[in-house]
Formats: sequence, C-alpha cells, structure tokens
Amino acid sequence: MTVKTSIQGFPGIGEQREWKRTLESFWRNEINNNEFEKKMQTIRLSRLNKLKQSGLDYIPVGDFSCYDHMLDMAVMFNMIPKRFASAGEAGSLDTYFAMARGTKESGACEMTKWFNTNYHYIVPEIEEAWIPKVTYNKPLAEFKEAEEKTGIKGKPVLVGPYTLLKVSKGYPEEQFQNYLDILVTLYAKVIGELTEAGAEIIQMDEPALVYSLDDKEMDIVEKVYQDIHGLVPGAGLLLQTYFESITDLKRLAHFPVKGIGIDLVHDQGNNAVQLKEFKLPEDKILALGVIDGRNVWKTDLETADALTAYLRSELSAKQEIWLQPSCSLLHVPVSLKHETKLSSALQNGLAFAEEKLQELQLLKYQEKTTSWKAHQEKLHDFRRRYQNFTQVEVRKAKRNHSFEERFPLQQKKWDLPLLPTTTIGSFPQTLDMRRARTAFRRGEMDQGQYDRLVKKKIDRWIKLQEDIGLDVLVHGEFERNDMVEFFGEKLDGFAVTENGWVQSYGSRCVKPPVIYSDVKFNRPMTVKETAYAGAQTSRPVKGMLTGPVTILNWSFERRDISREQTAFQIAEALQPELKALEDNNIEMIQVDEPALREGLPLKKEDHAYYLDWAVNAFRAVSEQVQPTTQVHTHMCYSEFNDIMSAISAMDADVISIETSRSHGEIIEVFEENVYDKGIGLGVYDIHSPRIPPAEEMRDIILQSLRVLPPKLFWINPDCGLKTRTEEETIAALANMQSAAEYCREVV
Ligand code: GLN
Ligand code: ZN
Repeated sequence: MTVKTSIQGFPGIGEQREWKRTLESFWRNEINNNEFEKKMQTIRLSRLNKLKQSGLDYIPVGDFSCYDHMLDMAVMFNMIPKRFASAGEAGSLDTYFAMARGTKESGACEMTKWFNTNYHYIVPEIEEAWIPKVTYNKPLAEFKEAEEKTGIKGKPVLVGPYTLLKVSKGYPEEQFQNYLDILVTLYAKVIGELTEAGAEIIQMDEPALVYSLDDKEMDIVEKVYQDIHGLVPGAGLLLQTYFESITDLKRLAHFPVKGIGIDLVHDQGNNAVQLKEFKLPEDKILALGVIDGRNVWKTDLETADALTAYLRSELSAKQEIWLQPSCSLLHVPVSLKHETKLSSALQNGLAFAEEKLQELQLLKYQEKTTSWKAHQEKLHDFRRRYQNFTQVEVRKAKRNHSFEERFPLQQKKWDLPLLPTTTIGSFPQTLDMRRARTAFRRGEMDQGQYDRLVKKKIDRWIKLQEDIGLDVLVHGEFERNDMVEFFGEKLDGFAVTENGWVQSYGSRCVKPPVIYSDVKFNRPMTVKETAYAGAQTSRPVKGMLTGPVTILNWSFERRDISREQTAFQIAEALQPELKALEDNNIEMIQVDEPALREGLPLKKEDHAYYLDWAVNAFRAVSEQVQPTTQVHTHMCYSEFNDIMSAISAMDADVISIETSRSHGEIIEVFEENVYDKGIGLGVYDIHSPRIPPAEEMRDIILQSLRVLPPKLFWINPDCGLKTRTEEETIAALANMQSAAEYCREVV
C-alpha cells in the first residue's frame, strides 16, 4: 500500500500577517500594481517552499488568494455583476477589489460564512446577462509558477461546480441544472488545460456534498462528474469533501474520479463506519482527513494511527492512501513559533498549521521514533495538567417567572415610554481609543491612564445619549477589543494568543481564544465600566455581555468534551457576572448571541438538537436574575425564518435583530409567526456611512407596527456602532429618536 501526505490548503496570511499589510498598503495606494503583484508572489512562493521543506507529497497550488478563493472562482468564470462594468477590465485588480469591497457607485458583493466556519467568502452572483467563459486560468498560472520557481509539481485546487453553484446567488432555482451544465463545460476547459500542463491530480473541493443530500441530488452531482470525465477523460480528479460526513459514501466512491477525500474528524464517525461497509475500487485514491484541520489541538498520533490502521485493514494492497488534515488549514493560525507568552506547558497541547505538517510526516512513517515519543509525551503532559472536566449538566434552564409574569413587573419598575429607544452596545472606537489599547497592551500606558481614558469616553457618551433623548443607555464598550476575546481574557479556562491570527474575511483577521480547560468565572469583567456609566445618569444603563453560544462558536473549542458541555460551562461562568451587575444596580442586561444562528449544524437532522441545547445554554445565563431584571439579547443577520420558534424559546425580555436591509421579508416572517415578547427590529443599517432621514425610519417603524404590538416594540439600530464615526452616529441616532417620538404620537 502506498501512503502519501497531502493538505487541502494552507493559510495565505503569512507568519506575521505580511499578506494583510501588503493588501492594505495597496488599497491605500502606497504601492502600485507591479509592486503588489511582486510582493504577493514572494509570499506565495515562500509559502510553497515551506510546504516543500515539510516533506509533503502533494502540495496544493491555486488555493492562495489575493482576497478570497470564491471571488477567484467567480472572476475566473466571468461572473462579474454588471454594476462593476465600469470598474475596469474583466481580469483586472480594479474589478477584483471593486467586487470585494464595493466602489462609490456600486455596493460590494455579499459576504457570508463558509459552511459552519467563521471564514466569510464572497458570494458569486449569476446574472441573466452572464457570459460564461474562462477569463483566466488562475490555477494553471500558479501550477506553472510553482513548477518554474520552486520545482514543485503542485496539486491544483478548485472549488467544484456543484458547491460553486450551491453557494452562488442571483439565479432562479429552476435554472440550477442549466447553469450547472454550463459550468461543467467551463470546468472542463480549466481542467483540460491543467491536465495538459502535467497536473496529475486536481483537487475538487465539494463541501456542499456533506449537507443532507437525497438520491436525486446525488444523481445531479454524479452527472457532473460523469460529464467532466466524458469531456476530459485523462483528468486526475480528487473529489474532496470536508466539515461533515457524506450521507452515501459508497455512491460517492463509485463516481468516475481518481480519488475521494473525506473528513474523519468532524464526521461524527459516519465516514469511517461507511467505509467498512463496501469495497473501495482498488485503483481509487483514498484521502483520509485524520488530523483536525480547523482546531488547534495537537494530534494524538496513537489514535490517528489506530484509526488509519483500522481503515486500511480492508483496503487493497494496491490502494494509494493519503494522510491529510480534515480540511484546509486556512482555519487555523500559521505557526506556534511566535507565541512567546503562552506557557510551554500549554503549547505542549497545541498545533497550528506548521505543526500539523510535522504531524502528518510522523504519521506517514508510523515509526515510534524519538520525535513521535516526544510528541506524545508533550500531549499527555498537557492533558494531565489542563484537560480536567468539572461536570456540568446539559439541561433545561429557565427563569423562575414566565414572561407573562415578568412583563407587568418590569413595566412598573422601568416605567419607560411607549416605543423605548436604545442602542446595541458599542459606540465608535475612535483612533485615540484604539491607540491607547495598543499602548496599554505593550505596557506603554498604565492601567490608571487607560481607565481614565475609558471613563472620559463613557462620560462623553452618556451625555450625548441623554441629549439625544434615548431611553435606555449603554456604556459604549470602549474598553473592549473584540466581543469574544475580551471575555476570553478574563474567564478561567481560556488562553489568548499573541499571533494566532486566522483570516476572517478579506484582510481582516481574528484571534479566536483557545478554550483549554474548565471555564470558570474568575472576577467581575464588565462591572467597573458599566456601574460607572450607571452612576453618571438617572436613566437606565443596560449591561453588555457576550452569550455562551457566541463565545463558543467564535473560539477554538475543546474536543475532549462536547460543545454543549462547554456552552453550559460558559453559561454558568457568566451567572456571577449578572449577579455582580445586579448588585451594582445594573438591572437591564443584554446577552448578545449574534452567532447562535450560524452555529447550526450542516446536517438538517442535527438542527433540533443543537437549537435545544443552544437555547438552554443561553437561558442558563440569566436563570437566577430577579424577575424585574430585564434580559435583552441581540442577534445579527436577518435569516431566521427557520429558527423563529428557537428565538422565542430564548425567552429574552427583549430581543433586537438586524433587519433593516431586508425589512420586507422580516415583516412577512412576523405575519406568519406570532412573537409575544419585547422586540426591536433594527431601524437602520449600521454598515453604511449613510445617515438615514427620520422619515425613512418612521416608515420602517410604522410598517413593523402593523404586525407587532406597540407595547412590545423597541426602537434601535441594527447592530453595534463601533465601526461608525462619531458624527454619523450622533446624527443617525438623533433622527432615530425623532422618528420614535413621531410614532409614539400616531400609534
Ligand atoms: N454589543 C455588541 C456591539 O454593540 C454586539 C455586536 C454584534 O452583534 N456583533 O458591538
Ligand atoms: Zn449585531
């Protein structure tokens, strides 16, 4: 049996985010097109050389992107919306970045999450006027470049046609088959050229195959691969799936392709079970995703090796197998070598992208060498020290009083006007604040100085909110870097890295905290600033926390205990924070859950279970507060038609949701579903610098009030205001307030 190693993709940002800096200096016009292309090439090649040195047998090419891999696919196939026609030539950088970031005249392409990860891709648009053609064979160019400059015979990577079309928008559903047929001919051209240039294996990423596909959908996919095979019989396609199991693996294994790639880490065991139930044709390559490609844990080599051995036992001696991560390493930080502050005991349990490459080599040779043993010893040391687990119960949680009981008590306590106005939490993070935070982190500013600046900001914004006339105020979140990292720094059981950057979208990177042990409350996290704000005004100030499901979804989570257990640990660790806020007279508390919706599992059959524990973990946070304490929550993204009952089950006294960009659709949702608790539908879009006139917001409010009762309705923007300027924020909120006051008179 031949055993090879391979990866599906590698982070492109560079060890020190040099990719990000290059992009941003290009956008600021500090470097010209030539310099930009040169710098990008340097980053691309140094990355390839690194992969070569690691000993990998199959090195991906074409996965490197100047912005996003889906945008690359869209541009390659000329899916360039008409509104960008004046931005530049079809293949130019101008058009490319116009689509990614928008121009003065035309809004950027939509961005959305890549399956169940926190990576955002650009959504390709297929317009009726689309002229299908291959503008530029990008993987071919990078295949040739790799060969010439590094001597690597790369494995080109493409997102497959089925997935591409599934995640695109703008075309009518009935046209799916038609567009798929068109795409097949374009793919055949790209694949044909690659094959001719000497590419022996081409990786076709088809993550959309892990959704719950029925036989009819599998027929459609099978036909795609039959057609491509008919057009380019000599192509060596490896059909790569990830993030979940394939519902009918046997069927996939018989598609006319050279190999298949499966995820054996995030498949709930389903892929391995199926693999034992049929005989894989012996000429087929089997790529086994045995190490976790989207989390930061060091691989237990013994376990991974045992799994491989178990699967191998029934394969033919002629079979070629590959050892791989479960998915592209895009989702993990680049290298541990720049972590100077994480204890070595903790680092013993971690592996970022570069370290995962070494793990693949160890697994390939299967010898219990000194490096193998040292690796395992470190892992066991880490587990002994940290991976304890204090039992939490994943349970039903609820407040002692129902909403019907709480509502009159809260009405009386708070005595707010009809249609109360509020905001979602953050106010503009101005340059001085961001600079101060950096200085504070670097030790160039002491705690006292930093706190004084935060207080000054709070003073200013309490006054501004009062002047505008808002009913429920917030402190403004000036002290926070990020809504998850901030809590990760303060709760026990979390570690924050110095350089653990992962691409989130475009040049934006995030540093998800690492949950490595029992999550526990350590000390109050938000009381200082919130109570200070509360003391500056006679109006209610709403406290601001991030909820357990969002903290979990935006962190690297433990894999030795279940996600639901971790969510409940976080929920219980937040309880004392609510108590501390109440003790300091903060009795309106918002627990944000913007990531609850996006945590939905990929398989439909798993939705109900997830929503059940997620809702209960959310409820556990506020289970012990007073009935008069008003619990708010907030969710971004407007798609929640399908989870309305879960949203209601969250039992928040008030929920605010982002809606202004799709108000019409939202209204329909509430025509069909009764919502009987406090609710604020965002009345203006905070993503745009535009200041909406009061009349526009009036209309939105009045329209909402056709389906929602005025006594439950709140007036607020779509989301936090941290990315806006102060001027925009003040002007927009003043208009919002006057719209609310107008509506109070007329309803
Ligand atoms: N309270 C947070 C803020 O205002 C909410 C952010 C979010 O929903 N993503 O910034
Ligand atoms: Zn939001």
